[in-house]
Amino acid sequence: MTATSSPIYRWRVGQVEITRVLEFEAALFEPAVIHPEASPEIIERHRSWLTPTLMDPVSGLMIFAFHSTVIKTPRATILVDTCSGNDKERPHKLRYHRKSWPYLANLAAAGFAPEDIDYVLCTHLHADHVGWNTRLLDGRWVPTFPNARYLFARKEWEHWRVAEWRAAYTTDPYFEDSLLPVMESDQVELVATDYVIDDSVRIESWPGHTPGHVCVVVGSAQLSAVLSGDIMHTPLQCAEPQLNSCFCVDAEMARTTRQRFLQTFADSPVMVIPAHFPTPTAGRIRSHNRSFRFHFDRVR
Ligand SMILES: [Zn+2]
Repeated sequence: MTATSSPIYRWRVGQVEITRVLEFEAALFEPAVIHPEASPEIIERHRSWLTPTLMDPVSGLMIFAFHSTVIKTPRATILVDTCSGNDKERPHKLRYHRKSWPYLANLAAAGFAPEDIDYVLCTHLHADHVGWNTRLLDGRWVPTFPNARYLFARKEWEHWRVAEWRAAYTTDPYFEDSLLPVMESDQVELVATDYVIDDSVRIESWPGHTPGHVCVVVGSAQLSAVLSGDIMHTPLQCAEPQLNSCFCVDAEMARTTRQRFLQTFADSPVMVIPAHFPTPTAGRIRSHNRSFRFHFDRVR
């Protein structure tokens, strides 16, 4: 697996600055693995526009990005989703196993020290959204962001705190190394799925991928962006909204939520920033032949 580094991507919504901080980007999943319901016919139908930027033409693997998104308002600095982390034991998910990504260097290059982060917000509590909640220091997992309040949706926490539910996802110890240490440091606030963080930043409930999955809405009605987490893992799901990912907890609800999300934001000026779409990541949803397409922002 090769990863590419990427320039800093920054967008502005009114007085709010939104910055993507990359952990890694790589051709990673066969389409039929990440989307088990994707038949060869479906993949062929879309291959021409998926390659080469969204699907590697040689390997046929879908290209994924793992990034945090930093929202800087006049009053607070909020870091959304913390990728997979370094030094984590992930024997069942080797793409996250014992890594040493230059994530903190990328964060510094974007102008943020760990101490600058006021809030860490996880759209959901899968291993690739909580990794940098902690880092390894002298053999112990400590919160990476010492001054931050970590906001988890209570509904999400209540699901993943149950060992049986976690075991259905992975037996890797991500709960122990990335969630429990911040809980024990008293930095976590369990919040409702309609929590308002700042005048211009709030979360909304969009469940299905996980029970307490939220999106982050930035800005006002006219000027806005939405961080859509894992409602969609690849742009193929805009064209084929019925396709779930192999990680969706509630298949039926995930499909219904995705369809509703696409209908809500299609043909609107709202910028959508998904958690895994490759560079340049952000774009708009447009209607297309009774379905949808994702129109990426032009690379600047
Ligand atoms: Zn994810």
